[in-house]
Amino acid sequence: MSRWAIEVNGLNKFFNTNHVLKNIDIRVPFGEVVSIIGASGSGKSTFLRCLNGIETIHSGEIIINGVAITDNKVNINIVRQSIGMIFQNFNLFPHMTVLSNITLALQKVKRMSKAESEKASFRLLEKVGLEEKAESFPIQLSGGQQQRVAIARALAMNPRVMMFDEPTSALDPETVNDVLDVMKELALEGMTMVVVTHEMGFAREVADRVVYIDEGRIIEDGKPEDIFYNPKNPRLRDFLGKII
Ligand code: ADP
Ligand code: MG
Repeated sequence: MSRWAIEVNGLNKFFNTNHVLKNIDIRVPFGEVVSIIGASGSGKSTFLRCLNGIETIHSGEIIINGVAITDNKVNINIVRQSIGMIFQNFNLFPHMTVLSNITLALQKVKRMSKAESEKASFRLLEKVGLEEKAESFPIQLSGGQQQRVAIARALAMNPRVMMFDEPTSALDPETVNDVLDVMKELALEGMTMVVVTHEMGFAREVADRVVYIDEGRIIEDGKPEDIFYNPKNPRLRDFLGKII
């Protein structure tokens, strides 16, 4: 059993001639919470998409939970089931109730019965504080509530790693904290998490480690207190000056 939830060696990614990720090396042990910060266009989303096997890569190796997803013989769909992915825009199925959004994959992928899947889904909705919304449709929920449903849905697959791409940046300010609280809870339970976020409060409070990406390169990688209070790279200092 690998001790790394995520291991990336020499990852390079191009979009045509645009060299988007440059020699990325990173190792994330199980149970760690990593925040990824960096300017818009620096490659953060592309990096998460590579980790999840959504993007083809030019060179390098990506090992998730001990499985090299860059190996052609590996069935990426199986690996993907062990990764929960949360996006800015929730991506719930609009024509399905909150409950059905969660039970669907449990029935299709996990082959649970209707009753079993509903029981499991209610437990997850309770965990994110939304059991009362089980019969609502996504459009009837606030953005923050929809995002919490998306998290419950991802958790239903029992992922070993959860990845978040700016999970709160499309939300009304008053619903941001409810989502961050759910994420904090997950972190406390020991979930391995990679979180692209501009919520510096979350990064400072919850992350074990902060990684700064600049123009496709990891420029700084360290403890939150070092990154925020003692940044070495002038570009990072400049970036922090703009967002804090
Ligand atoms: P971030 O998430 O840090 O804002 P992205 O990973 O979205 O950055 O983008 C990094 C770079 O890759 C940008 O130059 C962007 O224009 C480019 N890019 C992202 N997605 C695509 C795509 N599907 N096709 C072509 N270029 C892309
Ligand atoms: Mg992005």
